[in-house]
Amino acid sequence: MTNYIVVTGGVLSSLGKGITSASVAALLGNSNCRVSMLKIDPYINVDPGTMSPLEHGEVFVTADGGETDLDLGHYERFINSNLSKRNNFTTGQIYQTVIERERRGDYLGKTIQVIPHITDEIVRRIKAAGKDADILVVELGGTVGDIEGLPFYEAVRQMKRQLKHKMFNIHVTLVPYISVADELKTKPTQHSVQELKRIGITPDMLVLRSEKPVPKEMRKKLSVACDVEFESIIEATDAKSIYEMPLKFFDNGILHPIARAFNYDELKPDLREWKKLVKAILEPRREVTIAFVGKYLELKESYKSLIEALTHAGAHTDCKINFRWADSEKLLDEGVEKTLTECDAILVPGGFGTRGIEGKIAAIKYAREHKKVFLGICLGMQLALIEFARNVLKIKDATSQEFDAEAKNPVIYLIDEFIDQTGNKQIRTHCSQFGATMRLGEYECNLLENTLMSKAYGGEKKIFERHRHRYEANAKYRDQFEASGIVVSGEAKGLIEAIELRDHPWFVAVQFHPEFTSRLQSPNRIILAFIENALISAEKRGK
Ligand code: GLN
Repeated sequence: MTNYIVVTGGVLSSLGKGITSASVAALLGNSNCRVSMLKIDPYINVDPGTMSPLEHGEVFVTADGGETDLDLGHYERFINSNLSKRNNFTTGQIYQTVIERERRGDYLGKTIQVIPHITDEIVRRIKAAGKDADILVVELGGTVGDIEGLPFYEAVRQMKRQLKHKMFNIHVTLVPYISVADELKTKPTQHSVQELKRIGITPDMLVLRSEKPVPKEMRKKLSVACDVEFESIIEATDAKSIYEMPLKFFDNGILHPIARAFNYDELKPDLREWKKLVKAILEPRREVTIAFVGKYLELKESYKSLIEALTHAGAHTDCKINFRWADSEKLLDEGVEKTLTECDAILVPGGFGTRGIEGKIAAIKYAREHKKVFLGICLGMQLALIEFARNVLKIKDATSQEFDAEAKNPVIYLIDEFIDQTGNKQIRTHCSQFGATMRLGEYECNLLENTLMSKAYGGEKKIFERHRHRYEANAKYRDQFEASGIVVSGEAKGLIEAIELRDHPWFVAVQFHPEFTSRLQSPNRIILAFIENALISAEKRGK
């Protein structure tokens, strides 16, 4: 029988509800509980796949090909295990299911209403997500009182009544500091709890986000005013690294009330490894500077998993990662050499559309010619091939069909019109299982021996990494590439999945997104190798 912890938010958004949820789950997971997580998003999009990264941050891809909220990424990184499509749903999905059933006649002539039909579907999905877990941590997106959230709170209220001591609500609120009065204020928290109670939920725990420690007297006051036990009023002051949060929560006693509520013996997480890694993040002995050549730089959340993956690699190499943010649209004007020369390594991440590609290609050319440590990811690999085709193979009009559908030399080709090595057109049916036009989720990749890839992955012959792209490297040009210095170091079913340069110290580009499988406790291997090689180059440069 699964226990449920539902995390709700009050006062305002961006309080770190996702990190709070993930931290609690990490503590439980390290205490030998089978823990899983669920994010509920009250927006109407069916999934975030169609949202601009500048609107909603990154789209996180699960192993089973789900395009999910970026919080799922935090969850996997904190609990160090794979989640699935089932671990994130939206209002759009709930209504889609209910309306499809109504059209099929499943409701036998009934009038379809929010209560019970929508709420029943929400409860069904929450239970499905918790099926194999001792504890399911559910994060309810948005803030209490939002119109969009109401059916979800109602569903939680119903579950709470049914399950009684098997459901625990953590309400995350803000205790703002008013500098003119030099005071912390509890009123917004009180109002937020009143709003929650109005809906029918009395919180079991309050997590108080605050810039400054919340004094005991103030916590006592909140305990009385909000009807929450004093022991369950947990403060959460700002941290330097998100990975510190589980440690802070543990020190503040967050597990005691949870253990008591679920009738567990004391929960004793093993945090030794976690502590060591956090120490390396907070007090690194070395540093490297990475040029990050992207186009969604106004919202760094667009590159969330990648930035975190680099942090993990830093934690495992005792190294601080300094970012040199290079806007690919401005790079040519600002000067490629000037921007990149001081960096130890160059990273070109994934992306969509034509904007900024010439800047990225220029950065790749610079990395190739100046023997800079380089990692290209997804679009970064596609552009590495385009750069090589244009400047080494002298195919001046080499491009991707994404940028020119009528291209004469589509080095990067649309997935459905893929031409195999013998020149035959192949319809890639193994992709169509995911319905959409993108190749999504985990695919195998076979590694060539004695390559940088093979070395990075510890000599493994077959690896699994996650994809999210529509276009592929066109194998028609493969012979030409290989004859001129490109090594295809990863491939699967005739698809080029990874390339590197023969006459270069460390130049690797991959079609998949390695960042999606990186966790604090098990960093992604190719990103780790990238940082290790950036460190070697930093040392050579005498830093
Ligand atoms: N836009 C490219 C494609 O669709 C690359 C996608 C990506 O970098 N995620 O294939």
